[in-house]
Amino acid sequence: MQKIILSKSQKKILLEHTLKEEPNESCAILYGNKIEEKNIVKEIWLTENIDSSPTEFTLSPEQTWEMDQKRKELNLEIIGIFHSHPKGEAYPSNTDKKFMENNPYVWIIYSGINKNFRAFIFNLDSVEIPIQEK
Ligand SMILES: [Zn+2]
Repeated sequence: MQKIILSKSQKKILLEHTLKEEPNESCAILYGNKIEEKNIVKEIWLTENIDSSPTEFTLSPEQTWEMDQKRKELNLEIIGIFHSHPKGEAYPSNTDKKFMENNPYVWIIYSGINKNFRAFIFNLDSVEIPIQEK
């Protein structure tokens, strides 16, 4: 079973970004290493949601390009995509699932109503995986 390792301070970084972007969805790219089934987050890149929407998020083509540049600079893998659901549960929407299928990373979602993080991978459907603090 896969899991993702996200430290307390990394959660804080994501949470602060989320609060700053509310009422819109926020997003971030998680870089790190994958060792067997363990996805270890090492660096977080806070990105801009060009949709400025409370129910959707999109990265600009420039950010998509930069996302790959950063991966090379950091010499890490892209292991996860973070986004928030300010007014929803921390579960992937149908739109999220379509993106998950094409972007096979760990997807972390934060719920603004339940104040919790959940992580998912896509395998025929979204499957929840544990988030471990260390
Ligand atoms: Zn979503």
